Amino acid sequence: MGVNPPSLRHDLCVDNRTEQLADGVWRIELAFWVSAFVLANNGHDDTDGLTLVDTGTKGMAPRLVRSIRLAGLNPSAVGDVLLTHWHTDHAGGAERFAASSSGPRVWIGTEDLPVLTGELTPGDAAVDCGRLTRLLHRYAYAAPSPCASAQPLLDGMELAAAGGTVVTHTPGHTAGHLALHLPSRGVLIAGDAVMNLWRLAASPRALCSARSQAAASIQLLSELSFDVLAPMHGPPITKQAQPRLAAVAARFNS
Ligand SMILES: [Zn+2]
Repeated sequence: MGVNPPSLRHDLCVDNRTEQLADGVWRIELAFWVSAFVLANNGHDDTDGLTLVDTGTKGMAPRLVRSIRLAGLNPSAVGDVLLTHWHTDHAGGAERFAASSSGPRVWIGTEDLPVLTGELTPGDAAVDCGRLTRLLHRYAYAAPSPCASAQPLLDGMELAAAGGTVVTHTPGHTAGHLALHLPSRGVLIAGDAVMNLWRLAASPRALCSARSQAAASIQLLSELSFDVLAPMHGPPITKQAQPRLAAVAARFNS
């Protein structure tokens, strides 16, 4: 009698790396270059609902749901989806979540909202940048699937998730880019304001559609109090991350 070989496809599907960064804060690595986060509304578990931060691309949505389940959490408990910005590797799955049976509310920064709802093209959203960036946005960037129900998430809003989550408007990478500060957990979810691919660095200038504001945003983030820095691209820095972000801000501003 033959023995079935292990299913490579299955292994790849379930092998999204999931780690708990703090009480009620999980990071799900959807691919080597992109992450999503799950926050517990009561700060600990899914009994009072979950808040999802970013969705990955539209095609990653089933794997994201499976990863939430594999983390021991109920995907149907996701009541809110917060998007750091409109780029498709962050907001591509938003409409799929909004249309699911649990129908979570979708939130995004005010300036990025028209791109997510389909009222503004990526090309039209790239106004504060150089020619290369404008061309990239016009011809290389796909718009996310339109999510008509999305609502604006405002600077300074404080949400209950993860013991208190403060919305911080950090334009630069996009005009409506948001970071999330979790002061009681000492965590900063930085979106794409910085990336940690080969080293911690500001988002490349060619990817920034609100370029004139990028330096001030990184400076603002570097002055917050946190120990853990979690960008969406690359691994988190889990100890003494604030001085490292301050060094990035100093380099960027010099
Ligand atoms: Zn981005």
